[in-house]
Amino acid sequence: MKIDYLVAGSGLSALVFAALMAKSGKKVQVLEAHEYPGGFGHTFELARKYKFNAQLHYVWDCGEGQVVNQILKKLDLDKEVTFEQYNPDGFDHMRMPGYSLDIPSSSEELINRLVNLFPQYAHSIKRFVLEVTKAREGLRRLTPPINPSKIISDLGQSFCTLSYLNSTLQDVFDKFGLPQEAQTLLASQWPDFLLPPDQLSFYAWIVLFTAYQAGAYYPTKHFEHVIDSLVKVIEDNGGKVFLNHEVTNFIVTDKTVAGVKAIDKKTRNTHEFTAETTICNIDPKRAAEMIGVDKFSRTLQKKLNYEYSPSNFMVYCVVKDIDLRDYGFGKWNTFHTGHRNLNEAFYQMYENHDFSNPSFAITTPTLITEHTRDCPEDCQIIEFLTVANYDYFKQLKTSNKKAYKEKKEEILNYILDVVEKNYIPNLRKHIVFQITGSPTTNERFCWCPQGNSYGSNLTPKNMGIGRLNYQTSLKNFYFCNASSGYPGFAPTFWTGARLYQTLSNNWFIQDK
Ligand SMILES: Cc1cc2nc3c(=O)[nH]c(=O)nc-3n(C[C@H](O)[C@H](O)[C@H](O)COP(=O)(O)OP(=O)(O)OC[C@H]3O[C@@H](n4cnc5c(N)ncnc54)[C@H](O)[C@@H]3O)c2cc1C
Repeated sequence: MKIDYLVAGSGLSALVFAALMAKSGKKVQVLEAHEYPGGFGHTFELARKYKFNAQLHYVWDCGEGQVVNQILKKLDLDKEVTFEQYNPDGFDHMRMPGYSLDIPSSSEELINRLVNLFPQYAHSIKRFVLEVTKAREGLRRLTPPINPSKIISDLGQSFCTLSYLNSTLQDVFDKFGLPQEAQTLLASQWPDFLLPPDQLSFYAWIVLFTAYQAGAYYPTKHFEHVIDSLVKVIEDNGGKVFLNHEVTNFIVTDKTVAGVKAIDKKTRNTHEFTAETTICNIDPKRAAEMIGVDKFSRTLQKKLNYEYSPSNFMVYCVVKDIDLRDYGFGKWNTFHTGHRNLNEAFYQMYENHDFSNPSFAITTPTLITEHTRDCPEDCQIIEFLTVANYDYFKQLKTSNKKAYKEKKEEILNYILDVVEKNYIPNLRKHIVFQITGSPTTNERFCWCPQGNSYGSNLTPKNMGIGRLNYQTSLKNFYFCNASSGYPGFAPTFWTGARLYQTLSNNWFIQDK
């Protein structure tokens, strides 16, 4: 059978692309190295009763008419895959010693809350929040496909946005003279980027911050259902998703890609898969290394030369005989930092591997939706996320397994100490199951080079004009993943749909 699209990897952008193509009548095959589809978005089950999503916590652009909803409609999945909204009056609860701020959807209310905390800085705070709104609008205008007449009609916004092309979040905090504590409260969602303010692209921050203001969501039937529904569309339309199939190389002749070689990890047999067009959801840099970087054009070689985003440390816990709602948790995330300065907090953990005063995210997926449970009725799930250094963990794991395990245990205990002290006394007594994931766990189960979290690092250098896109400079070969689009649930939905639109010339997404 002639295959139209062979997709290497089954991350979100790949599944969205493959589902759209399959639904439009194309023959599609997807090859996935892992035993579960979904990449960072896969769900795994442990102890036969607890289910955890590997990395996804909350998502944006999922409301009626927003990008994810438009794509689901195109796939006839919008009634099947629905979302619960986080509390718009405070979807992210920022907590630091002496201060707390619940981030609301309304920018006006955000200004009020910040001005109440820092009255002497009212002017700077207002100017900063208004600048964020203006720069976000400008970014919308400047994102392809560009409409020149809209840019001309809003020149002020476009200039404002362009002036921040090389700015970090810290640069902009400094420009507006925000007090240190206000900076820390506003940037406490740093685990969403795994970068501190002094490295994080201002563009990346404003996109995520304002997108969650417009609506933070969680899937009603959990993330597993989203992934399964996309796979079902592919299979119902004659496509196939091969799990446990690791792509080991690409078949390339004269700068034209004809398919891939893949090993079936169960039988250890190697097969060749060929197709008219090959789509690469595998990290582009890794794929280029398999193919030979010199086969790509000079421009592409330059674009492929990105550094990876830092890795992370995850704690997945199940608690019993306790209702986390009695301890300040609910339809929101909590971000805790013990430091006044997030840059210092980050470097202490990432470079010194010192987690004695950790900054981290706390999420409670079973409180956002009650539709289906990922654990028994009398249990709830609570997860913690922070940054961790891949090289350090890799070295520990290869040289001293015991020290590796002890370090994981140490970080877990530092986090639990903070949670017991500040939020849930006796939490440990209620934990019936816990497991931690280090950077090497990430590498092993999400197949991401160096355990990276968001593909290419979210610095101004990688978020600017030289960013990779779907084009590869090779024939019949396209990239489709976070690093060749944008990371995150909604952005990877958009990345997959954008490639579908480009290759099928069927432009259905309105108003990104
Ligand atoms: C800690 C963390 C927290 C996050 N939290 C959120 C969040 O709350 N909200 C949000 O919107 N986003 C979040 N994200 C980001 C989001 O999960 C990712 O950006 C997105 O899922 C990436 O999708 P992708 O299409 O790039 O594919 P990936 O998820 O990178 O998938 C690539 C796929 O290719 C497969 N693969 C790799 N090599 C091979 C090979 N050789 N052969 C076959 N298959 C291969 C992999 O197994 C994987 O399935 C988070 C990410 C991390 C790490």
